[in-house]
Amino acid sequence: MSCTDARYSFELYPPRTERAAAALPATIDRLAAVHPDFISVTYGAGGSSRTASLDVLRYIIERTDVSAMAHLTCVGSSHEEAHRLIREFLDAGIRRFLAVRGDPPADLPAGEDGIGDIRTTAELVQLIHRVQAERAPYGELSVPGLPAQAVLQHREHVQIAVAAFPNGHPSSHSISQDIDALLAKQAAGANLGITQLFFHAEDYLHFAQRAAEAGVTFPILPGIMPVTSPARLKRMLELSGEDLPSDLAIELEVEPTDEGRREIGIDWAARLGRRLLDGGAPGLHLYTFNQHEAVLSMLDRIGVLPEGGAEHTHTPKKPATEKETA
Ligand code: FAD
Repeated sequence: MSCTDARYSFELYPPRTERAAAALPATIDRLAAVHPDFISVTYGAGGSSRTASLDVLRYIIERTDVSAMAHLTCVGSSHEEAHRLIREFLDAGIRRFLAVRGDPPADLPAGEDGIGDIRTTAELVQLIHRVQAERAPYGELSVPGLPAQAVLQHREHVQIAVAAFPNGHPSSHSISQDIDALLAKQAAGANLGITQLFFHAEDYLHFAQRAAEAGVTFPILPGIMPVTSPARLKRMLELSGEDLPSDLAIELEVEPTDEGRREIGIDWAARLGRRLLDGGAPGLHLYTFNQHEAVLSMLDRIGVLPEGGAEHTHTPKKPATEKETA
């Protein structure tokens, strides 16, 4: 794919402090200004509530022209609770979901797994489709050129993305198991994959190829982020369970200034993004950590932002060179 045609999307999480909540609208506005395919909002991760996710999603729907994607997990819920939750998100205008199973609390009494009634992500995908079908079984579609009463009936569909793990989910025994899980999610009606964070283009490219060979037909977006400090890198490794990319870790450790570390992280991510797009990735999904500057600088450096995109960032446009992408 030519880099100028490349698509991108962003992930946000609901703010956890008043200060973060006050800063988020400006970040959303800056991200929305570069016309991403969608902005996704996490759910339940880090103890955030349903209301907190919905508040951010509503801001995206009501105040921007960007499509909002709601992460949804029903871990620990009864069937009725899950049904109610999905309906609430649909009623709020959400038509794009990222269905994830979620993680139960670690400190459960022996014999309890805390998963709840919805045992797998595939079941959650099916349930979202079912609730949507019950809620809006048919819509009217007027046909241009035909009398006003001539309408076609159609069903409004939702997009359901699911998580993919290029280096295996921590509980998985093999990559084949992860690809089988993706196939199960596809059979349930998922139509997009978004990967867990990873640090090497080959991890994604090999995984995407194996998934396609096994019969996964939906696009799989690589999820990446600019890591601009050793603390951020450490946190990402804890969250993702990925192996430490030692070259990046050393570069960040030896660089004495914050500005220098930021540059290293943005450049590193821009090279990774370019290699993924050159290798055939259908786009890039960026974990923003609720900060727009680093991801916009990175996209600008790859050369994928729309005309005038550099104005949305605070660093000058610098397309990745041949050497950087080698
Ligand atoms: P699955 O992919 O269904 O299962 C994980 C692994 O278990 C599979 O890869 C496979 O190895 C194995 N497995 C599952 N089903 C089967 C089966 N039928 N047969 C064999 N093996 C199987 N968590 C949150 O709480 N909130 C969020 O907003 C959130 N967003 C996320 C976004 C992304 C892009 C990613 C990658 C993860 C996110 N998570 C989130 C984390 C997610 O909840 C965890 O990964 C959780 O441990 C599993 O959920 P899952 O949907 O990934 O599970």
